[in-house]
Amino acid sequence: MKALFVLSLSLLALVASAKDNFDFFYLVQQWPGSYCDTKRACCYPVTGKPDPIFTIHGLWPNYNDGTYPSNCDQQNEFDGREIEDLQRTMEEYWPTLACPTGNGLKFWAHEWDKHGTCTESTLDQHSYFLSALNLYKKANLLTALQDAGIEPDDRFYSVDSIKLAIKESVGFTPGLECNKDGSGNQQLSEVYLCVDKSGQKFINCPNFPRISCRKQVQFPSF
Ligand code: AMP
Repeated sequence: MKALFVLSLSLLALVASAKDNFDFFYLVQQWPGSYCDTKRACCYPVTGKPDPIFTIHGLWPNYNDGTYPSNCDQQNEFDGREIEDLQRTMEEYWPTLACPTGNGLKFWAHEWDKHGTCTESTLDQHSYFLSALNLYKKANLLTALQDAGIEPDDRFYSVDSIKLAIKESVGFTPGLECNKDGSGNQQLSEVYLCVDKSGQKFINCPNFPRISCRKQVQFPSF
């Protein structure tokens, strides 16, 4: 009986570790104007109002079937000291907007615990955050949209034109996510780009996130 129990435990552990393998990453960027323009309030970080640019939400390991692993290793706790050299850059490009006002460590710890610990031990904390920052710098979404005449000016733009502008600049079609402002207007909130397992280069998306945008969406000012 005991042997059977131990065997089931080992099998469970095996399945769990197999689950930690993943197929690709989403690099998810957000538009702060949309994050803040909902019924839920946002709070600017202690460093002040972020620049009006797309900022990083996270780098998320994913499976080709649309599911994803999460919270894979509770032992591998976030340690802010490991990313001290990145902190300034992260404050700029990966700012927290949660309330109450913070310095970002809580947001980054959440992203590490939920997503970063599932990177199959290929990326340690420093390389995980650095990979996200490097990828982010390769995809300048605001410039891509502005080059196509799409500005954060509270006007509505077609989802197709947004996707096309990003595809023309980055080389790959993004997934888009929308949220609603206080009056129920759909607004562009997040842009998903797919990244290979090594966390180095963009790829065609094996799978897109659930579509939450109508044909025309608002691009709010920030
Ligand atoms: P995730 O759990 O990685 O899917 O991210 C969702 C969580 O991240 C939610 O609790 C959001 O409120 C939070 N979140 C998203 N963007 C930000 C941000 N800029 N600052 C702080 N929290 C955020």
